[in-house]
Amino acid sequence: MGDGHADEREREHVRVAVIGSGFGGLGAAVRLRREGVTDFVVLERADSVGGTWRDNDYPGCACDVPSHLYSFSFAPNPDWPRTFSGQRHIRAYLEHVADTFGLRPHLRLNTEVEMARWDADELRWDIETSRGSFTADVVVSATGPLSDPKMPEIPGLSSFPGKVFHSARWDHEYDLRGKRVAMIGTGASAIQIVPAIAPDVERLTLFQRTPPWVMPRTDRAISAGERWLHRQLPFTRAARRGLLWGIRELQVGAFTKHPNRLGLVESLAKANMARSIKDPALRAKLTPSYRIGCKRILLSSTYYPALARPNVDLVASGLKEVRGSVLVAADGTETAADAIVFGTGFHVTDMPIADRVVGAEGRTLAEEWKDGMQSLRGATAAGFPNWMTIIGPNTGLGNSSMILMIESQLNYMADYVRQLGLLTPGGRGGSAGREGRTALAARPSAVHAWNRRVQDRMKRTVWNTGGCTSWYLDANGRNTTVWPGTTAEFRRETRGVDLAEYEVLRGRAEARERTSATTATTATTATAATAETAAATVSGGAA
Ligand code: NAP
Repeated sequence: MGDGHADEREREHVRVAVIGSGFGGLGAAVRLRREGVTDFVVLERADSVGGTWRDNDYPGCACDVPSHLYSFSFAPNPDWPRTFSGQRHIRAYLEHVADTFGLRPHLRLNTEVEMARWDADELRWDIETSRGSFTADVVVSATGPLSDPKMPEIPGLSSFPGKVFHSARWDHEYDLRGKRVAMIGTGASAIQIVPAIAPDVERLTLFQRTPPWVMPRTDRAISAGERWLHRQLPFTRAARRGLLWGIRELQVGAFTKHPNRLGLVESLAKANMARSIKDPALRAKLTPSYRIGCKRILLSSTYYPALARPNVDLVASGLKEVRGSVLVAADGTETAADAIVFGTGFHVTDMPIADRVVGAEGRTLAEEWKDGMQSLRGATAAGFPNWMTIIGPNTGLGNSSMILMIESQLNYMADYVRQLGLLTPGGRGGSAGREGRTALAARPSAVHAWNRRVQDRMKRTVWNTGGCTSWYLDANGRNTTVWPGTTAEFRRETRGVDLAEYEVLRGRAEARERTSATTATTATTATAATAETAAATVSGGAA
């Protein structure tokens, strides 16, 4: 008891701790403020905000979703300079969001979360960071699926005498001009890097394990006239966003229910390739053997022209081994290089943060998810009360803007915090004392029911039936990343928290107080019965 009080003095207690300051974390911060919650921090391991749009600053980095859709609905930007903005503009937009919405006082930069443990007695999270400890009633984990670079284990790589880096950790000090560069991978990152660096390097060798389907990207500058119109008449900007959204919503059915209809799109992609690649042998190497959409469809109008350059070679095989400065592909091809750039993606289905979160049963989230990530409505996990993830399991998209999904999750988060406030005596808006603390614990039955539904719908999707492997699938071949429906469906599913899907946990002291006051015979900690009663009362009030 005494120790507990000492801890409380030393640690900062907040109502909500948000982890990460990318689109998810900043969006969460804005929504919390709008809900009247000002007692929160945003813990960020880097020295500035921006998440993936801060870390990925490789040459050519841009978004392949149009900016008027790839931005917050509550923070419209009439001045996007291009239809598909580059990294610099998106990062500046996020900095602007941090300023406009007064988020700076909440930011704790250079503060990496090292461990977060659920304290079942105190009903709060104990969070250890690289800059001290916090306690929080609720944790909103917005670390993102594309934050920790994945480097394949290549035998001999440590003996490579040249430069080695990952696309998300670009070394701008290193001058690629005149160098023999090996680019590993042909995902969304690599296909932007290849055209950007090909004109500068002496030789570029691209290691392609699996060819991607590539469609043209109709990028253009947004004219001064259009921007003026968007500023003066905001409904034109809203209409533009609506159109971009609607087109993508209409495409969803082909991905989720009728993958055979995608054959037509394959023909368009082949025609796109044929326009730039005249060599039939190279075309054959670049033609995928799986259904389009199974892996993310890549958009680029410069990738194929870059591959047709005389200083660019394609090795249609994965990198298997490095012997000194020679790279050996799985098909035996040998290539000498001065630098290796890994465009090999991220730890998506094995998020490193999951190793650092310890739930009610003393198990980490990674252990809980060892057979595959699963959550309730992409947000909460059984055994991890008051913990929510933004861009959680099965909330990714194959063809539209992740910001739409993030905003749906923020709706859910806002309602979660609202309902907790209603359940907590005197807890609305501020942080409750330890006696009054309340937590919501996702019921395992609700988590399973949700996942059964998601996985049932997943069976027909192109991601599961298209004949490819991708980062959408985990080590067990289960698709735990993509949402198998439209963004509108997800919005409906995450409109609010259904308290019947949760057990309400109440603080011990409060329960004790109540017990002695009413001489009731209820248990001192939460029980399913109290939870259900609370559920009935609060959902009635919240409706
Ligand atoms: P990725 O899509 O996971 O691609 C990784 C690539 O590395 C794949 O082509 C993979 O081949 C290859 N690879 C892995 N090990 C290899 C080896 N030993 N030899 C040769 N190739 C190897 O990663 P990413 O390109 O960084 O993209 C990740 C995600 O970030 C994207 O899907 C997208 O969601 C996002 N992103 C978005 C944008 C945008 O414009 N919005 C831009 C960049 C990234 P296999 O295909 O055979 O596995």
